[in-house]
Amino acid sequence: RENIPVRSYFAPLFDAELIPAIVQSARTGVVLMLAYVNEEALEKTISTGYTHFYSRSRQSLWFKGETSGNKQALVDLRYDCDNDTLLMIVDEAGPACHTGSYSCFNQVPENKNVFNQLMAVIEDRKANPVAGSYTNYLFEKGIDKILKKVGEESAEVIIGAKNSKEELLYEMGDLFYHSLVLLANQNIEIGELEDELRKRFK
Ligand code: AMP
Ligand code: ZN
Ligand code: ZN
Ligand code: ZN
Repeated sequence: RENIPVRSYFAPLFDAELIPAIVQSARTGVVLMLAYVNEEALEKTISTGYTHFYSRSRQSLWFKGETSGNKQALVDLRYDCDNDTLLMIVDEAGPACHTGSYSCFNQVPENKNVFNQLMAVIEDRKANPVAGSYTNYLFEKGIDKILKKVGEESAEVIIGAKNSKEELLYEMGDLFYHSLVLLANQNIEIGELEDELRKRFK
């Protein structure tokens, strides 16, 4: 690979000491990691054809894969529109992450609240009916049955509140569940209910 004069070619990049470099797999397109290069690391990456970075923790040049063997052969090197980020497209020999996972980026678990979770189940039942499902029984019976249940559960909430905390919680659970079935029956998304409630915050 021909050496290109890094300092002049990437001059605007070196306004910053360290330049973030996104590493992407040429084979899978997955974003593998983000690390930083200084001039030396970028020069090494280009001259050797393998990714090199500047390790901020070790404060030294870091040849990715030198100890793990998971080297990254440079396939393509790009810089972004405003000259502050590099993209290294690589042919990876193994996992990018020091934890052993293929990519450093982990999925953020969806932290849905219980109402959203329950609504997702109700909508799934509506789309894919399950034999013996009470939710599907309600959908089959239709709006009048669902409204009757909402009315009944409202009355049971009132009775429950007079009796005990446990009974109140149980009946309120019933009421919320049937209210969500009603929303689903009316093709209303839970987000619309959330919007309605949010409008009232001041
Ligand atoms: P390696 O460059 O794969 O031989 O790993 C050498 C050391 O670099 C590891 O022990 C880690 O401390 C660090 N390291 C490796 N891969 C990563 C990564 N993707 N992100 C951050 N640090 C890493
Ligand atoms: Zn940019
Ligand atoms: Zn990692
Ligand atoms: Zn009840």
